[in-house]
Amino acid sequence: MTYEIATLRGDGIGPEIVDEAVKVLRAVAEVVPGVDLEFTLLEGGADYYAAHGELAPATTWKTMESAHAILFGSMGHPDIRMPDGTEAQGHFIVNARKKFGLYAGVRPIKFYPGAKGLDPSQKQVDLVLVRESTEGLFASFGGGAEITGEVYADTMIITRKGTERVARYAFELARTRNGRPRDGARHVTCVDKANIFRSLAFFREVYDGVAAGYPDISSDHALVDSFAMLLMQHPERYDVLVTENMFGDILSDLAAALVGGLGLAPSGDIGDDHAMFQPAHGSAPDIAGQDRANPVATILSARMMLDWLARRHDDDALRAAADLLERSVVATMESGALTVDLGGTLPCSRFGDAVAATVRELGAETGR
Ligand code: ATP
Repeated sequence: MTYEIATLRGDGIGPEIVDEAVKVLRAVAEVVPGVDLEFTLLEGGADYYAAHGELAPATTWKTMESAHAILFGSMGHPDIRMPDGTEAQGHFIVNARKKFGLYAGVRPIKFYPGAKGLDPSQKQVDLVLVRESTEGLFASFGGGAEITGEVYADTMIITRKGTERVARYAFELARTRNGRPRDGARHVTCVDKANIFRSLAFFREVYDGVAAGYPDISSDHALVDSFAMLLMQHPERYDVLVTENMFGDILSDLAAALVGGLGLAPSGDIGDDHAMFQPAHGSAPDIAGQDRANPVATILSARMMLDWLARRHDDDALRAAADLLERSVVATMESGALTVDLGGTLPCSRFGDAVAATVRELGAETGR
C-alpha cells in the first residue's frame, strides 16, 4: 500500500528540519521491504500569509484531509502577525485540531544519547504527556471576549465527550508501554486543578469513570501546581499523563527540559481518523536558514507517524520501519554525531545524512 504523506514545511527552520525527516523516511522506505511513502509538498505559513492574505490555500487543507497522515514543520515569524496580533502557528494548529478532530496531543519525553537534561543519570525519565487538544482554555481561541476594553475573558470548556475520549486514549496508550521507570507499573496520572475549578473537578470525575474500565492500569490524580514540582523532582513516578489543553501546553515544554530541550521533543496531534506530526518546538527564526537546527524532534515525530500508521493499518512493514528509524537515531547519536545545540559540530543537513546512512547500514544488517 502507498501511504500519502501531506508534507507542510512552513516557515523559519521548518523547511530545513522537514527536509531531513523526509530524507530519513526515504532511506527507511528504501531498505524496509513493503514500505511505500509518497510525499505531497504543501504551501502554507506566515510567509504565505504575508503574500496571499490567508495561512494556507484550500488545496493544502484538502490534501491534509485526504492524506493518510500529515507531517508538519513549524510556522510563524515575529514580524508577520495575524489581525489579532498573534503569530501564525497557533492559528494553523488550533484550526487543524478542530477541523480534523485531533484531540490527543501526544508528547513522549525520554532520553536520547548525547542529550543533557536535568537528570544526570538519564535513567529516570520515560513518560508520555497526553494533552487534550480541542477544548479546555483553548476552546474560545480566536473568539475570546472583550468585555469593556479594559477587561477580557477566555472561557474554560470541559465536556464529557472530550474528556472521555482523551482519557481513553491515555489508558490505551499505557497498555502499549512498559510502565513507569520507578517500578515498571503501567500507570496514568490525571493532572488537574479539581480543588478549585468546577470544570476541572468534572474533568477528574469523567477521568475516574474511564479509569474504572481499566483495572489492569493503576491511576491517580495530581494538582497541576505541585505536580510541576514533582515532575522535576521525581519524573520516575510517571508513565502516562493526561491533562487539560493549557496545562498540557505548558507542562510539555517544561517536561522537555528534563531530557535536553525542545530540539529533541517530538509530538503527534492524534484523532480517530487523522493525525498530524510535528516537533514540539516552533520556527526558531533566530537560527533559520543557517543549517544549524536540530532535526531530531522532527525525525522522531516522523517515527511516531510510522507507528501510528502501522497500528491504524495493521501494517508490519511500517512497524519494522518505525523500529529501524528509532534505532538509527539512537545509534547515530551514540556515535557522537550531534548538532550544535547539543555541543556537537554537525549542521542540520549533515546530521540528516548521518541518520539516513545509519538507516541503510542497520537496514542492510537486519535484511541479511
Ligand atoms: P512557538 O511558540 O512557535 O512554539 P517558541 O516560543 O516555543 O515558538 P521556538 O521557536 O520553538 O520558540 O524556539 C525557541 C528557541 O529554541 C529558538 O529561538 C532556538 O534558539 C531554540 N530552538 C528551538 N528549536 C530548535 C531546534 N530544532 N534546534 C535548535 N534550536 C532550537
